[in-house]
Amino acid sequence: MTVKKAHVMVVTPHPDDAEFGVAGSVVHWARAGKDVIYVVCTNGDKGTSDINLKPAELAQIREQEQLAAAKLLGVREVVFLRHEDQSLEDTPEFRKEIVRLIRMYRPETIVTADPYRRYIWHRDHRIVGQVVLDAVFPYARDLFAYPDMLEEGLQPHKVKEVLLWASLEDINYRLDVTDTFDIKLAALRCHESQVGNNRFPQLEEWLRQRARQLAEGEDFELAEAFHRVEILR
Ligand SMILES: [Zn+2]
Repeated sequence: MTVKKAHVMVVTPHPDDAEFGVAGSVVHWARAGKDVIYVVCTNGDKGTSDINLKPAELAQIREQEQLAAAKLLGVREVVFLRHEDQSLEDTPEFRKEIVRLIRMYRPETIVTADPYRRYIWHRDHRIVGQVVLDAVFPYARDLFAYPDMLEEGLQPHKVKEVLLWASLEDINYRLDVTDTFDIKLAALRCHESQVGNNRFPQLEEWLRQRARQLAEGEDFELAEAFHRVEILR
């Protein structure tokens, strides 16, 4: 197997979630020489209110948008799982798919959506966060969780930390994105089908205000914020 290890794996439910959640930090990591890869779980083919746009067309558009954003941020590779939008479930198959990627790319850090955000929260985000946490511990770590993977040469792997974005009720980790905010914004703007001017005219203002709020109490101006889980065992 010839997969190059990554330092950071970002697992995003839809194309564009990672740009909202972690793009400013991704730029910092990439600039510091870290290999960042994206895993995009769904094709986002329900993300429109345009009745004339066919889901398959939208999926293609969103893949191109995601690739453009990732390139701008310095992401090394984007893996598209291409599940249908709004279709994810916490199944043994999906969990195994994520475990396989963790064992292949062997990241120190995984970044994904917080599954425990309360009340209204996109089901795909809830499922992805939950499945990633389970995949990290114990399934990716345990030798005999998947005997067939051992036969393929996919050894167990221990992830060091998981960062959960959109963890508004339970933030314990903030990263300074003051210097990289403009690239984050530009990467978000690559998602024209989602945040094009008539769809989200206040994007910059909204994003800046939110980043400022997340930096409250810190000695920097703009932040991305997470719930950080360190895996000790
Ligand atoms: Zn999403």
